[in-house]
Amino acid sequence: MRVCVYCGSLPGDDPRFAATARAFGAAVARAGYGVVYGGGRVGLMGALADAALAAGGEVIGVIPQRLTEMEIAHRRLTDLRVVATMHERKALMAELADAFVALPGGFGTFEEYFEIVTWVQLGLADAPCLLANIAGYFDGLLALIDGALAKGFVTKRNRAIVEAFSTVEGVLRRLAEVRPHDGASF
Ligand code: AMP
Repeated sequence: MRVCVYCGSLPGDDPRFAATARAFGAAVARAGYGVVYGGGRVGLMGALADAALAAGGEVIGVIPQRLTEMEIAHRRLTDLRVVATMHERKALMAELADAFVALPGGFGTFEEYFEIVTWVQLGLADAPCLLANIAGYFDGLLALIDGALAKGFVTKRNRAIVEAFSTVEGVLRRLAEVRPHDGASF
């Protein structure tokens, strides 16, 4: 099984974020799952990949050519797939993974996470979309989503696609229930 992880290209202002990315990367590798991620070696992305590799895990990075310098492509991955565009990146990441997890991050993380959520909403993919709400980082986002539910723009059924956990352990317990290739199919 492979887990696609979306997370920040910056480390954030709290050392707990990078510590969580490292703990999650190591735990995913120890559980025997591969990691698919954006291929950079900066911020939480780098922390996640380094920890998964150090724990003996498979780590596949998917990065557009133009970003190989900006996000400093990680050169020690199991596999680095250099693609032409952002769209190809997201499609390949989705194709390679059986489950999706967002750790704290910025616009890129939000965008990637919500894209897979909307694919599941439309029935284009069928895979768990987990949110690691570390240190309450996603509280504001969850409030926005619940507001959209209350105002009738998100159905109750689709609200359930976003599964939030306050700890890495919670995310891992949920991942243990996933059957490989439940996943995205494009
Ligand atoms: P950020 O959360 O903004 O630090 O970005 C995290 C990752 O998302 C980085 O690898 C970005 O390159 C990536 N990213 C940003 N915008 C997009 C996009 N529109 N499509 C795909 N990936 C993106």
